[in-house]
Amino acid sequence: MTFADKTSLAGALNGTFASLDLVGRLRALRAQVAGRIAFTTSLGLEDQVITHAIAEAGVDVDIVTLDTGRLFPQTYQVWAATEAKYGLKIRAFYPQTEAVEQLVTAQGIDGFYHAVSAREACCHVRKVEPLARALNGADVWITGLRADQSGHRQGMGFVTFEAGRGLIKANPLLDWTREAAAQFAAQHEVPINELHAQGFLSIGCAPCTRAIKAGEPERAGRWWWEDEAKKECGLHVDAQGRLVRTGAGENAS
Ligand code: SF4
Repeated sequence: MTFADKTSLAGALNGTFASLDLVGRLRALRAQVAGRIAFTTSLGLEDQVITHAIAEAGVDVDIVTLDTGRLFPQTYQVWAATEAKYGLKIRAFYPQTEAVEQLVTAQGIDGFYHAVSAREACCHVRKVEPLARALNGADVWITGLRADQSGHRQGMGFVTFEAGRGLIKANPLLDWTREAAAQFAAQHEVPINELHAQGFLSIGCAPCTRAIKAGEPERAGRWWWEDEAKKECGLHVDAQGRLVRTGAGENAS
């Protein structure tokens, strides 16, 4: 598909998503796109809801995750439980061995705490570069982003063409609330990370995620030691290919 084809298809799908439920949205994507559809899961609540819906819809979607090497043990547990429940495989993308070796040699094992530039270097090696490989050759990228997670997400569409990566980005949970996702997960016995119940609403790498306190924004527990204005890891770009400020970095979701 050319960029023009993808732009036009994204616009058409964006218009149809509003009237469809989650399974309907996934089926519409699969019906309209002949090429590879990649879903990047961080194994968090919203992404687990999407994995459940992919299994329910019976659609061919490549479910991938980024194993940064610094995930919580509980994240690996929910990964294994998900594969067992749905009989599917979540394909893992790992950082390049030499790049990790050089990173740790240069900044130490937890060097990301010491400077924004060190944290960005770590995120680049462990997340951004593997994500590029995970999306390579995909026509569509499905994410679990919700509009109410942060200010900039309120301006996002259900389906957009992301020129920077040359693919269609689909956000089938854009109009969901966290409560709706939690309710759906409970109702359908979707495996979820036990850390969610301990105040970890947004779960990324273990050393860079903490539980949030009552009243804090959902993603305040990510990179909590940094200035709010500097939090960004480059996993999401806007329609012009610019990095989008996320409020706390993305775990490819
Ligand atoms: S979230 Fe933390 S540990 Fe994970 S890649 Fe980024 S800096 Fe490294």
